[in-house]
Amino acid sequence: MTTTDKKELTHWVAGKPIEGTSGRFADVTDPATGAVSAHLPLASAGEAAAAIDAAAAAFPAWRDTSLARRTQILFRFRELLNGCSGELAELITAEHGKVLSDAAGEVARGQEVVEFACGMPHLLKGSATENASTSVDVQSIRQPLGVVGIISPFNFPAMVPMWFFPIAIAVGNTVVLKPSEKVPSAALWLAELWEEAGLPDGVFNVVNGDKEAVDALLTSPEVKSISFVGSTPIARHVYETGTANGKRVQALGGAKNHMVVLPDADLDLAADQAINAGFGSAGERCMAISALVVVGDIADTLVDKIAQRAKNLRTGDGRRSCDMGPLVTKAARDRVTGYIDAGEAAGATVAVDGRTAQFDADGNGFFVGPTLLDHVNTNMSVYTDEIFGPVLSVLRVDTYGQAVDLINSNPYGNGTALFTNDGGAARRFQNEVEVGMVGINVPVPVPMAYYSFGGWKNSLFGDTHAHGTEGVHFFTRGKVVTTRWLDPSHAGLNLGFPQNT
Ligand code: NAD
Repeated sequence: MTTTDKKELTHWVAGKPIEGTSGRFADVTDPATGAVSAHLPLASAGEAAAAIDAAAAAFPAWRDTSLARRTQILFRFRELLNGCSGELAELITAEHGKVLSDAAGEVARGQEVVEFACGMPHLLKGSATENASTSVDVQSIRQPLGVVGIISPFNFPAMVPMWFFPIAIAVGNTVVLKPSEKVPSAALWLAELWEEAGLPDGVFNVVNGDKEAVDALLTSPEVKSISFVGSTPIARHVYETGTANGKRVQALGGAKNHMVVLPDADLDLAADQAINAGFGSAGERCMAISALVVVGDIADTLVDKIAQRAKNLRTGDGRRSCDMGPLVTKAARDRVTGYIDAGEAAGATVAVDGRTAQFDADGNGFFVGPTLLDHVNTNMSVYTDEIFGPVLSVLRVDTYGQAVDLINSNPYGNGTALFTNDGGAARRFQNEVEVGMVGINVPVPVPMAYYSFGGWKNSLFGDTHAHGTEGVHFFTRGKVVTTRWLDPSHAGLNLGFPQNT
């Protein structure tokens, strides 16, 4: 690729693209070929402030726009996205690397939140009590916050921002989105779609950048809330800094998701699902299964079934109908192979070795094939750390109780799954496991848009999960109005605390 083929990307502020002026840039690469595809401006604090100002200026008119009008724009956005979702999927594959069908799935899951938000008139209905006290009526209403900040990770360039902005916008907020600098084009594309859908200028803004832009959002008094998704150390920083600056914050962090297989499970089903959940999106999902906990004497059989399947997967360019694409960057690829080296050195058995796999791609893409490590223990770095790559570690335990203890001792608590045909064991598991999202014979239990997405422990800082009714609550403030319409002649002095009569 020559220099002239590279796209020059922008920010998106007040309804139009804005060139970067900070003088700082990042390269965006196509992970399947290793080629630089675009230059991305990294915002200065001043440029981030300009986006926040644009959002603040748009807020008064947007919050006073009728709910009917706001949802009409959302419906239009949905229709437009349905018409060109394939284009968005291609953009995602070109910058993230995930295979096209997976990128299309991500767009579809994001669209479900748009559809949920189209029902906002129902979700925003408050409550009212007539004659709560003599001639006194009470009503509760929910109102938007103002400017809200969204900071997203590289692994879902469209879906993760869409967990938040449809709801934030539908309830009357204005948005500044800071996408991952590795995959910025989806956010800019979505901004153009909003424009086409008729969203007023300034309601949805995109500021591209890194820590400088993030810290500008975290410290600006104009920004009332932060929705963050990314790794645990940054999630903690965002939560602590955002709350210290008076904002409400939901900061979703990293994960280490366990899939437990009991001896009575259907082992072919379990093997298929371990493959799907371990290697889908090259393991770059916060809900990926990375630890397979096998109970009892089925481990040899199950490992063999998974190994056979893993060896048949085709890894390569996501545009070539492969099963699995590359890692997002060269650094990510090197990090993953480093973990495989460390696991092997620590005594794990490399049952399938992704370091030596063949890849269907041109150029110098950032590939690692599916990797299966057996006989992993809890001291190995392949178990203690979030690898975020196509590496499935098998831990062997004797009892169900040991499996649950393993999960509950882990500092993360995002997702988990149990494979069994025993309803009693499943019921016990869902009750006692300390994880936010649980699958029973479902390996990646991502909640539907009308439920809420979020983990426990180091997988979420804050107390509100994403989308669903928790999302509506996060992006609104409650107000209770108490009303009395009395004849003025009934007034009188009474300095005591009001009591109901
Ligand atoms: P990351 O933490 O590196 O980056 C996330 C965002 O934070 C990006 O926008 C990035 O620009 C910004 N950022 C990075 N360093 C920063 C710093 N020092 N100060 C302020 N901002 C900073 O995460 P990533 O590598 O893009 O994404 C992968 C991680 O996200 C994994 O840990 C994965 O588990 C997690 N994730 C979690 C969920 C969830 O729902 N819990 C969902 C998706 C991804």
